[in-house]
Order: sequence, then C-alpha cells, then structure tokens
Amino acid sequence: MQINILTLFPQMFDSPFSASIFKRAIDGKLVRVNIHNIRDYTHDKHHTVDDYTYGGGAGMILKSDPIFEAVESIKSSIRLKEGAGVVPVILLTPQGRLFSQQIAWELSRHSHLILICGRYEGVDERVLEHLVTDEISIGDYVLSGGELAAIVVVDAVVRLLPGVLGSEASALDDSHATGLLEYPQYTRPAVYRGWAVPEVLLSGNHAQIAKWRREQAVLRTMKRRPELLDKANLCLEERQLVEDLKQS
Ligand code: SAH
Repeated sequence: MQINILTLFPQMFDSPFSASIFKRAIDGKLVRVNIHNIRDYTHDKHHTVDDYTYGGGAGMILKSDPIFEAVESIKSSIRLKEGAGVVPVILLTPQGRLFSQQIAWELSRHSHLILICGRYEGVDERVLEHLVTDEISIGDYVLSGGELAAIVVVDAVVRLLPGVLGSEASALDDSHATGLLEYPQYTRPAVYRGWAVPEVLLSGNHAQIAKWRREQAVLRTMKRRPELLDKANLCLEERQLVEDLKQS
C-alpha cells in the first residue's frame, strides 16, 4: 500500500513511523508512506498556504490551489506508475464520518490512499466539494491539526495489511473486529500477589478456553459498551447469555 499525506508540518510524522510495527512494515516494503509539504505546491514568493475567511471571522483558512495541485500531482504519478483505480482522497476533519475499525478495514483494501491534514480554521470548502472523496473524524473533539488524526488512521489501517502483524498477534480477535470488545488476557506468572489467572486458561482445553473467551467478550461488551451488542454477530447461545444477564 502507498499512503500519501499532505501536511504543513512534515516533521510531525518522523517519530511515529520510525518504531515498532510501522518501522517493520515500512522496512519490509509492505507499506510506503510519502509525506508531501503543501507549501511546496505554492508559487508565490512567500509560499502562502492560508488566507483570511471571506465574510470575516477569526483565524485563517487553507487555500484551495496548493491542495488541488498537490493531490493532482500525486494522482498523476500514481496513474503513470501503477495504473491504480480509484484513489480515496481523505480529508481529516472533526466534521467527517466517525473513524471505526470497520472504516479501517475498508481503507486497508485500497492500494493507495491520499490524506489531507487541515490546520488553523480548516480548509476552503471547495476542497471538500470538488477534490475530497471522503471526510474522516477521529472523535468528537477538535485538534489543532489533522496530523495526529492522520497518524491514528494510518496506524489502524497499516496493522491490518497482510503480513504486518506477523504471527505473534492477530487483528481478528481485537476489540471491535468481531463487534465485541476483546476478552481479558493474562501472562506469566500464574499467580501474582495472590491474584490467580482464571483456571480455565491453564487447562489446555482449547474448546473450553474459546468458549470462556467468547463469553467474557460478550460480558465485557455488555458491561462497558452495551450499544455495541445490537450490531454484534452473536450466536443463539450468546444472545441467550445476554438476555439472562439483562434479567439478573
Ligand atoms: N474550524 C474547524 C476545526 C479546525 S481544526 C471546525 O470547526 O470544523 C484544524 C484542523 O485539525 C482541521 O482542519 C482538521 O484537519 C484537524 N482536526 C481537528 N479535529 C479533528 C478531528 N476530530 N478529527 C480529524 N481531524 C481533526
């Protein structure tokens, strides 16, 4: 996968992409991340990327032209090189659809992504109307720029790419992957300060363990995020468990 990120602050991407899973994915050529400075697509002497709001009001707005030029230039290089199909052009914005594990899966299926990080009061509306194909928010709060949001989105997407997590971890059991929160997990020692690991996990009985984990995932989801259960894919037995728990 090739990920292109448009930003006014390229240095913000240095450290998150240089450690752990990310570094491995980049070194292993499973993903390539290109950071583009929006300022490089300006033509005036001062490299102006922002301007005042029409109609008045505090704060500056990112201008359309450098963003259009940057995206068009990236798109044409993608087409020339690899004949890729539709490339999502995603604006990070608190007004976008709320990011979720499902959206991460959806994005992980593309060979290319283009992400635009806003700054200041945001970007000129014509970027949204005529350039962007998707708008994503990472939560109902306002950040000072789209960079941290882009890092969150890219992190969640990259760990889903085949080969990235390796055999030591699986994205399939993760919280939200199944529509449920993940079950509790323990590692050695079996007893720590007198607190013992649940017996079943030491039993070696894989069927029992799988059953316990599934029940725990249902229980935990019910306690912490009951609204998730409506959409979760539960078997009859699990639905019954939820009903019983509701009664008790
Ligand atoms: N005035 C804008 C907010 C601008 S915040 C508004 O009220 O909608 C500056 C930039 O930070 C935005 O352009 C966006 O790129 C980024 N940003 C802020 N909060 C975000 C969030 N929750 N999710 C994704 N991007 C966000």
